[in-house]
Amino acid sequence: MTEIKIFSPATVANVACGFDVLGFCLDSQGDEMIIRKTKEKGIKITHIEGFDLPYETEKNVAGVSALAMYKNAKPDCGFEIEIYKRIKPGSGIGSSAASAVGSVFGMNELLGKPYNKTQLTCFAMKGEALASKSEHADNLAPAIFGGFTLVKSTLPLDIIQIPTPQDLYATIIHPQIEIKTSDAREILPKNISLKDAISQWANVGSLVHALHTSDYKLIHRSLQDIIIEPYRKQLIPFFDDVKFAAIKAGALGCAISGSGPSIFTLSKGKEIAQNIKDVMSLVYSKTNIDFDIHISKINTRGVKILS
Ligand code: ADP
Repeated sequence: MTEIKIFSPATVANVACGFDVLGFCLDSQGDEMIIRKTKEKGIKITHIEGFDLPYETEKNVAGVSALAMYKNAKPDCGFEIEIYKRIKPGSGIGSSAASAVGSVFGMNELLGKPYNKTQLTCFAMKGEALASKSEHADNLAPAIFGGFTLVKSTLPLDIIQIPTPQDLYATIIHPQIEIKTSDAREILPKNISLKDAISQWANVGSLVHALHTSDYKLIHRSLQDIIIEPYRKQLIPFFDDVKFAAIKAGALGCAISGSGPSIFTLSKGKEIAQNIKDVMSLVYSKTNIDFDIHISKINTRGVKILS
C-alpha cells in the first residue's frame, strides 16, 4: 500500500465538568486527508482545500505531527499529505486536532502500524502544540480512540476510554464569531475555591459513572461546569439563552465546546437532538450572528480509513 485516504473527525473537548480532560468524538463533521508514500525523503504538504492554511510543513499542524513521527520512525521513504479541510479552524471542535491526527494515523497505516494509539497521540500532541502553544491531548484522544476519552495525565500520557451510551446524540451550534485563544485563556480564574473544586470533581466522577452505566438521568445531573463556564460564556453572545432553550427542549446538558465559540448539547435519542437543534437555531436566528448547526451521533470509532 502506498496511498491511503482517511476521515479524521471533529471532536468536543472540555466536556462541561471535564475541563481539559474529557472529550468525545463526532460523526457528522471531519476532514478528509490523503497520505502518500514517496521515494523522496521528508514530509511535504502538496494540497490543501477548504481553508487557507500554511503549506510549510513546520507551520501546519499536520506537518508538525508527521515530522515528530517521521523523526522517530526513520523510514526509508518520504510522505506527501493532502488536506481536504471541512472543519473550520478556530471553531472549537478540534480543527487542528483532526489534521494532527490524520497525518500520523495515515503514515502509521502505510508503515504497517508500528505505533499504538497512545504513541500516535504523543506525536499528534507535537502538532497540536503549534496551534495552541501547549501540548494537550483532549481533542486528539477522542479523535484517535473514538467515543469518550479521559486524559488522566499528559506526562506520562495516560488515556482512558470510557464507554458511550447507545442513544447518546450531540447537537453542536457554531456561532460565527471569533474568540481569540489568548482571550479564552486570560479570562480564566487563577484560583478556585475548595467548595467549587469539590462540586466539579464530584460531577466528573458521576459523569464517568453515568457513561459506564448508560444512566441518562445521572448524565443530566452531572453535565455541569461551575468553574470555567461562568467566565468563558461572557465571550459567547446569547450563551445563556441557547442553554436555557436547549435544556427546556430536553438536553441532558449544554456547555462550551473546547474554548468556544461552538456550544454542544448531549441528549437521548435523535428526536430530542432535532428539537434542540430547532430551538438553538431559533435563538441565533433572532440575532445578526450567522451560525452552523449539526446533529451527530457519538463516533465510537474515531479516525478511519476511507480507501
Ligand atoms: P480548533 O479549536 O478549532 O482546533 P485552534 O484554535 O486550536 O482551533 O486551531 C486553529 C489554529 O491552528 C489556526 O490558527 C490555524 O491557522 C492553525 N493551523 C495550522 N495548521 C492547521 C491545520 N492543518 N488545521 C487547522 N488549523 C491549523
